[in-house]
Amino acid sequence: MIDMEVVLENLTKKFPARGRKSQGEVTAVNNFTFKAPDGKLIGLLGPSGCGKSTTLHLISGLLKPTSGRVFFGSDDVTSLAPEHRGIGLVFQNYALYPHLTVRQNILFPLQNLKGKDKLSRPQMEKAAQEAAQLVQIDGLMDRKPGELSGGQQQRVAIARALVKMPKVLLLDEPLSNLDARLRLQTREEIRRIQRQTGITTIFVTHDQEEAMSISDLIVVMKDGIVQQTGRPQEVYDSPVNLFVARFLGTPPINVFNGRVENSKLYIDNTEVMGEVMAKDQEVYVGIRPEGFLLEEEGPLGCQLRSVETMGRDESVVATHKEALSPAIRAIIGVKEELSLKEKQLQEGAEVRFSLIPRKVFLFNKETEERIYFQKGRTS
Ligand code: ATP
Repeated sequence: MIDMEVVLENLTKKFPARGRKSQGEVTAVNNFTFKAPDGKLIGLLGPSGCGKSTTLHLISGLLKPTSGRVFFGSDDVTSLAPEHRGIGLVFQNYALYPHLTVRQNILFPLQNLKGKDKLSRPQMEKAAQEAAQLVQIDGLMDRKPGELSGGQQQRVAIARALVKMPKVLLLDEPLSNLDARLRLQTREEIRRIQRQTGITTIFVTHDQEEAMSISDLIVVMKDGIVQQTGRPQEVYDSPVNLFVARFLGTPPINVFNGRVENSKLYIDNTEVMGEVMAKDQEVYVGIRPEGFLLEEEGPLGCQLRSVETMGRDESVVATHKEALSPAIRAIIGVKEELSLKEKQLQEGAEVRFSLIPRKVFLFNKETEERIYFQKGRTS
C-alpha cells in the first residue's frame, strides 16, 4: 500500500485573456492552499467554472501553475512532467482505445515503461489481471470497449489508471457519463477501490451529493477560491458562508430575509428565535429543511402549497414573503404528517413552524459570511 500526502501551497493559475484586450486575464485558481492527507479520498467540489479541473490539472502536471507549489510527500513536483509524477488519471470520457481489447487497454501504460521500471511480459500480465480484478472486470478482458456498458468502460479506465500503482489517483468528473443508477453504483465502487488500495485520491465533481457521500474530506470552491474544507458532515453542519450553505444539501437550505434585534431573531417582524448572541443587524437566515418543526403555536407562519413525498421524506412545501425562493421546503416527521392529514388543510392554509437552532444559520447581508450566534461565539 502506498500512502502519499498531496500538498498544494498558494497554487495560482492565470490564463491570458484571448481576444478581449480590455477584459484582462482569468484567474482560474487563486491562492489554493490545501493538504490532502495520506490515503484519503478528497472531493473537489464547486459549480461549473470554479476551477476544479484546472486544480486537478495542476496536480497532475498537465498544467503549470502561474505561482505556488505542489508537493507529493516531501517531494516538490511543481516542475516535474506528468509522466514522472506517479499519478493515475481518469477523465469523464473514458478515452479508451477502441481498437484494443480491455486487456490491451489496461496493459498499455505498462508497455511504455523504460529503464529500471520496465516489466517482463508475465509481470505486466499479472499487474493487468490484478487491476482488472480490483475493478471487477476480469471476466471481460477480451472484449473491445464498444462491447461494454458505460459503467464497465469507466471501470476499465480506472483499472488502466491503477495498473502502474500510482501514488496519487486523480479523477475528473468520472461519473458524469453514467445514468443515475450506475452513478450510484460506480461511486460506491470508487470508494471501495480507494479503500482497498489506500491510494490518495482526488476527485472532481459538481455534484455535491456525490462528493458528500464518498469523500473523507471535501473542498468547496467558488471562482477559483477555496471556500471551505472539512469532513462532509462538518461542512454541512457548519458552513462558513451563504454560498457553501446553499451549495450543500438536497433539498437545499431555505433562505429568508431577517433581522437580529436585542438578541432575538425576527423574520417579517415576528420573533422566531431567542438567545441570538449577535449584534443588531439585518441578516440572511438559512434554515435547513430538517430545521423546521411543524407546531400549532410555532412562531413562523407560512402558506401551505403542498405536501410532497420524496422517497422516505415527507416535506411541506410552503411560501413566505421574506423567503428568497418562491417556495420553502420543510422535511417533517411521520407524526407531523399525520396531524397535517387529519386537518385536511387546503392550499393557502397557514402552517406554523418553530425552528431547531442548530439548523439555523445567519449570514451577513453584505459579505454573506456566517454570523456565529451561539453563546461564546458572537460576531
Ligand atoms: P466545469 O465543472 O465546468 O468543468 P471547472 O470548475 O472544472 O468547471 P475549470 O475548467 O477549471 O472549471 O475553469 C476555471 C476557469 O478558467 C473558467 O472560467 C474557465 O473558463 C477558465 N479556463 C479554463 N481553462 C482555460 C484555458 N485553457 N484558457 C483560458 N481560460 C481557461
